[in-house]
Amino acid sequence: MVSENKNDSIQARGQENSSLPNPTEWPFDGLEKVASCPVCGGTERSTVHLGLTDRIFFCAPGAWTLYRCDTCHCGYLDPRPTPQAIGLAYAEYYTHTAPQEEVFLSSSTFIGRRLVTLRNGYLNARFPHLALKPSHRLGFRLMDYFPQTRALAERDVRHLPEPVAGARLMDLGCGSGAFVRRALSLGYAAEGLEFDSQAVAAGIGKGLPIREGSLPRTGLESGSYDVVTLSQVIEHLHDPLAALQEIHRLLKPGGVFWLATPNMDAPGHSHFGPDWRGLEPPRHLVLFSAKALRLALERTGFSDIEFKPPGAVSQWLWSSSLRISKNARLGTPIELPSDLTKLAGREDRLSLTDPVAGEELVVVARKS
Ligand SMILES: [Zn+2]
Repeated sequence: MVSENKNDSIQARGQENSSLPNPTEWPFDGLEKVASCPVCGGTERSTVHLGLTDRIFFCAPGAWTLYRCDTCHCGYLDPRPTPQAIGLAYAEYYTHTAPQEEVFLSSSTFIGRRLVTLRNGYLNARFPHLALKPSHRLGFRLMDYFPQTRALAERDVRHLPEPVAGARLMDLGCGSGAFVRRALSLGYAAEGLEFDSQAVAAGIGKGLPIREGSLPRTGLESGSYDVVTLSQVIEHLHDPLAALQEIHRLLKPGGVFWLATPNMDAPGHSHFGPDWRGLEPPRHLVLFSAKALRLALERTGFSDIEFKPPGAVSQWLWSSSLRISKNARLGTPIELPSDLTKLAGREDRLSLTDPVAGEELVVVARKS
């Protein structure tokens, strides 16, 4: 959460620039124009939202306009922070903190104890390296009857295949390493890369193999990874296509790429409009539609592109959006009304059969 002192320091920086009439504006020399769509290069576009502000961490100054590309339907900010100035938007970002001790898989209050046992049995069968307890050996077979539980379990393991001996996994933008730890427990030789030095230090302090670096110039060796994962990162990048090209370079032939990002066409975006949690201005520079994401992956050499159900994420995202609509700080308790809870549940069920209809896009692809 933003302290009073932090607000003061941001305002002081703004006041140093005499061209800024409003101290809460983003520094003028820290802005850049986006002349064409960052995904497809199209120049025809429509305005989606005007005057978006940071109502999640309340640390980024400025008001932002989101456009939708008429060709690939992605959303993008114009103008946007320059790469040199974007750090101003991350003053209070949550990946700074150390990862929590491993609690395997999401806790879900609606899943009864018995279902957890079956789910653990399912995952133990998927990953022989795992020995989750309590578990039941029928879990793998019975998950056909519990598709939402399976979708959530698969999301938690990022739809990964069972690792062959010595399989290397790189989690790019790993924060302080929570998923690196999980991938290690699945049997992968897992590592992470993160641009935030505080988060790297926190992860290393927990004994995790992560290092400092960023996309698109990771400095990592070509063709060295069996799997690369990228969770909630691509929407933060100035040049998402360059990042995808770099990931393609890092993978071995046939290697697997897993990605998750907010869905520009999410029902929650339609419902909450400028208050939708997925917008997160100005840290989210590009918001993908399914069409834009497929196009970007194809243009950078990926094949076997398959969208996966994002899991039961709608209720969390809708609750966060409701909090934003009330201009309430992070951590403020928000209870989603029963009608919205039902709608969010319906969305999660729909995304089981139509994976691009959820709040997030989750995709698996291969390096050809
Ligand atoms: Zn486009």
